[in-house]
Amino acid sequence: MSTEPTKILLSEDEMPRQWYNIQADLPVPLPPPVGPDGNPIGPDDLARVFPMNLIEQEVSTERWIDIPEEVLGILKLWRPSPLYRARRLEAALGTPAKIYYKNEGVSPAGSHKPNTAVAQAWYNKQFGIKYLTTETGAGQWGSALAMSCKLIGIECKVFMVRISFDQKPFRKIMMKTWGADCFPSPSMETAIGRKILEETPDTPGSLAIAISEAIEQAVERDDTRYALGSVLNHVMLHQTIIGLEAKKQFDKIGKYPDIVIGCAGGGSNFAGISFPFLCDKIHGKEVRVIATEPEACPTLTRGPYVYDAGDVAKMTPFLPMHSLGHRFVPPAIHAGGLRYHGMAPLVSHVKQLGLIEATAMPQTECYEAALLFAHTEGFIPAPETSHAIAQTIREAKQAKAEGKEKVILMNWSGHGLMDLQGYDAFLSGRISDYALPEEMLQRSLQSLEGHPQIG
Ligand SMILES: *Cc1c(COP(=O)(O)O)cnc(C)c1O
Repeated sequence: MSTEPTKILLSEDEMPRQWYNIQADLPVPLPPPVGPDGNPIGPDDLARVFPMNLIEQEVSTERWIDIPEEVLGILKLWRPSPLYRARRLEAALGTPAKIYYKNEGVSPAGSHKPNTAVAQAWYNKQFGIKYLTTETGAGQWGSALAMSCKLIGIECKVFMVRISFDQKPFRKIMMKTWGADCFPSPSMETAIGRKILEETPDTPGSLAIAISEAIEQAVERDDTRYALGSVLNHVMLHQTIIGLEAKKQFDKIGKYPDIVIGCAGGGSNFAGISFPFLCDKIHGKEVRVIATEPEACPTLTRGPYVYDAGDVAKMTPFLPMHSLGHRFVPPAIHAGGLRYHGMAPLVSHVKQLGLIEATAMPQTECYEAALLFAHTEGFIPAPETSHAIAQTIREAKQAKAEGKEKVILMNWSGHGLMDLQGYDAFLSGRISDYALPEEMLQRSLQSLEGHPQIG
């Protein structure tokens, strides 16, 4: 049995040619986005923000959607991504569990995010769009979209939260290298940015402000649209290539996972690895699926399931999701990509249906897991990814306690080579645990008052 390879590889010919849409298999349909009056939002209401071809994907209930040839061609620059057997991590844990990780850190931008960025840039170009605007916090999404727009041939404008713009220069330089315009947000480029700068010239900015700036620029020009890196249904769809590849890779070695694990910020890499397996689960297969989030931003584990806005200015429709409240101000934990107040409607919905489990991780356990991973497998994970690793280690220890040979699949969502400040802080003892205090959560949930009810 020792003939199983360390990397289970697919050839480019074996790459999936269609995305999987879980909306076709949901036992209960997803509640629609609604306006402030509680009435469903239609495709036309979104047409100034997104191109119609992506809006069609957003509401589609077709099970399989073809991946355009040109998108496949670009994804082939790094896909299919390898599925690794983490033998050295297993040995260090002394576990009978077999641990596999899908390495999404091999993309040029270093994470899973280009899987949807390339597709979104392509559909916008097809629709005649010349400029895409977006926001970025630490810069992972902005750099993925910058690269994708350059490869597809449209212009990209990124509003980057000012404090990250000043403190994390390397992602900004990546975006500029790929030819994008990158502005610190709030900026003088938009009315909302100028207003906020006038009132509070020293503001560090926030993701919510940056979203408002990016949407403002998108809606005021016919040749410009806005792109979002997570949360929406079409983003989950584009990421399913991860899980579809993983299923083919498991077929090659004649195995099937008992447990599938992903970290969850907005939910896209988790949906990407898990939805193709959830399809089997909906049709009777036994598989546990676990989303792991930070204790500091416990959206799935402590946030109620409600209609909430995607941004602080309520420029987006109300989406049905687990949420901490749209005015939630996330604490400065290092896993920047896991700090969003809401969770993808599709991920929230499968949680409501009891198809997935969710856990919340303390930060130090995540960094310890990341170090053990780097010490055994070599790769340095992104701080977000370390949450999935920590959950995987918990499950591997449980398998050891039970003496069971479980097969665990984890999504390794990205590398941490642009996040070394966090490692520096941990290695010099400057990272401590922080669980969101209950009274802070309750205060934040007050912003949900008056929103429409689900159902
Ligand atoms: C952005 C990011 C995440 C979180 O986003 P999701 O939409 O929840 O996947 C996780 N890992 C990495 C490496 C990221 O860049």
